[in-house]
Amino acid sequence: MATLFEKICTGEIPADIVYQDEVCVCFRDINPGAPTHVLLVPRKAIPRLAMAQEDDAALLGHMLLTVGKVARLLGVDESGFRLVINNGPHAGETVPHLHMHILGGRDLEWPPG
Ligand code: 5GP
Repeated sequence: MATLFEKICTGEIPADIVYQDEVCVCFRDINPGAPTHVLLVPRKAIPRLAMAQEDDAALLGHMLLTVGKVARLLGVDESGFRLVINNGPHAGETVPHLHMHILGGRDLEWPPG
């Protein structure tokens, strides 16, 4: 069965999309934790980072390069942003489809809770 984020990638479920290309889609988080809070997800349904395979190397590299592109688009590249990948229960992962949180627009605390 398709995950929530697969359905957003195909347009079956609406989202506020800020960027998309042939590999990934970036949209605003429905419950933002910062003034800028978007999720970058691959179109390919990889459940979580630790389940990525060797042949996902190009996809993962593309996503990391896309983070910088999205940060520039959203105007947080110079003010700064945080990239978060929650992997599994202890990290609070709630959607089993790899996603990168890009958070910015305010001072972010460290260490995270
Ligand atoms: P996780 O906790 O798995 O790392 O992150 C999942 C994120 O997806 C959460 O920040 C949550 O607010 C967001 N989210 C859950 N459902 C939806 C939805 O239907 N649309 C959007 N845009 N974001 C969602």
